[in-house]
Order: sequence, then structure tokens, then C-alpha cells
Amino acid sequence: MYAGVFADIEGSFGIWRMRQCRMGTREWQYGRSCLTEDVNQVVRGCFDGGATRVLVKDTHEVGFNCLVKELDPRAEYLGGHYVKPSLYGDVTGIDLVLYVAIHAASGTPEAFFPHTHYGVFSQLRLNGSPVSEMDIYGGYLGELGIPIGFVSGEDVAVEQALRTLPWAKSVVVEKDKDTYTSGEKSLQYLEEGRARLRATAADAVRSVSEMRPLLFKGPLRFEAEFRTEELARKYNTWDFPRDGATVSWEAGDMVEGFDKLNRLVFIPRWSYPVRRPMAFAMRSYYRIKNTYFAPEADPEEASLP
Ligand SMILES: [Zn+2]
Repeated sequence: MYAGVFADIEGSFGIWRMRQCRMGTREWQYGRSCLTEDVNQVVRGCFDGGATRVLVKDTHEVGFNCLVKELDPRAEYLGGHYVKPSLYGDVTGIDLVLYVAIHAASGTPEAFFPHTHYGVFSQLRLNGSPVSEMDIYGGYLGELGIPIGFVSGEDVAVEQALRTLPWAKSVVVEKDKDTYTSGEKSLQYLEEGRARLRATAADAVRSVSEMRPLLFKGPLRFEAEFRTEELARKYNTWDFPRDGATVSWEAGDMVEGFDKLNRLVFIPRWSYPVRRPMAFAMRSYYRIKNTYFAPEADPEEASLP
């Protein structure tokens, strides 16, 4: 049983504000330790539940957020984004993905740092309905034959994920400042919450036979509503149909649709022929920067053991 622990960061225990997710800041350095703790609990849960191999896939921003030296040494680690064989790199053979620290979809009112794939959208729609990352990533992994069977994050993010992944086990994580700055009470909440991550991950792995790869029936119509028309114009180097701030495209399946989404936001037309060496350069740069040149952590008012 080969488990993939995929990590975002916004939905980690211990994180209550946006700056703690912004790569390169001192607050993010604190956020990394929160994320690493959550990821470790899920990794332990995977092994408790019977996994024989666990891959940690780090995905937030350019994808080097976990403190690798502090990760459970039994897990393999894969940071950054790829072009081939998938956006995530080599995920061949993974039986189940557990998605740690997710956040709500673009346009979700009152949510913590809501966005779908990238912050430039005010909404991303699939066949007319707003979608979250778990829909898009779930559908992409689903076409590779891989189910998502676990999510953790803010209540509304979990609720959105469970709409399309009803079989997934979940852990809800509070996002308000008081929860993490109230001394003994906060430490107890963290301890209980992280114990829940471990137990729920073990449960998900044991229940792998109930999990389903998410599949959307094609044809798929995507609509990306940018925050402004100017942004839509700037990003649409591929000349997809555009109506004001909304850019749209069609796809036969999610792999194709997701590829077009990535082209729209991350691969301007001029760079397409060099996208593989560019992705390699990005991974190398951020691996070194975030490993050896990280800032000192600023936990602000966080209650620390
Ligand atoms: Zn993220």
C-alpha cells in the first residue's frame, strides 16, 4: 500500500493568518513548522494504517514548504512542480492520496485565504459551477487512477471537498487567532487536533477499498473569472476565448483541462518550448533557497510548548 501525503499549507493547525503562508517571510518559517508537524502526523497515521511506502508531495506555491530534516525519515519527499510525467512529478503506483492543510475555493465568503489554484481568480467554474482545488486536483488524480481519501483544513474547505469526495475522511482545523494564542488551551487544542490527523489518516488508509478516483464526465467547460479584466488580458497569452474578465476553454477530460489551466496562469506562450528546463531551474532554486537560506521563524503570539 503506497500512500501519497500531498501538502498545501493554509489549512495547517497553528496557522491563523495569510502571512504565515507567504513563502520567504519569517512568519512563513513558523508556518512551515506547523505544516511539517501536521504532515508528520498524517505520515505516521499512514504507516499505522498499513501503508508500506509513503511519499510526501509538497505543493504550496513553488512547493518547498516542509522542513525536510524534521520529516518522519520513513517518508520520501518530493517538492516542487513538474511538467512530466505529471504536474506532481512521478506519482505512479500511489494507491491513495491524503491531502493535508487545504483551503476554500476562490470566491468563498469569510474563508481563510480562499483561492482555486492561483490567487488571480475571483472564481473558477467547471460546467457552470464554482470549483475548489479538491475538484480539480481530485479529478486530475482521478484520471491517473488515484483517489483522494483524506482532507484536513478549515471547515468550509472540508465541506466543499466532501461534496465531490464523499468517501474521504476529514479533519477540521480552526483558523482564528485566539485558538493558537491562548496558552495552555491552545497547546491542548493542537495536541488533540494533531492526534486526530494521525488517527483519521490511519482510518483512511484502512478504508482504501471504499475510496474512488474522482471522474468528471467530459466534455468539460472551464471558466476562469479573473479579479480584473486587465489581469485576464495579461494572462491570456494563449488567446483562449475571453469575455471581459472571464477566460474560458474546453477540454475532453481533466488532464487536458488542467493542462490548459496551468498554461493560462504559469506557462505564457513564449515559454512553452522551455517549460521543462524552466521547471527544473525553479525546483533547484527554491530547494536550495528554502533549505539553506531560510529566514528565522517568527511565531508572533503563537503559544509554543
Ligand atoms: Zn497553498
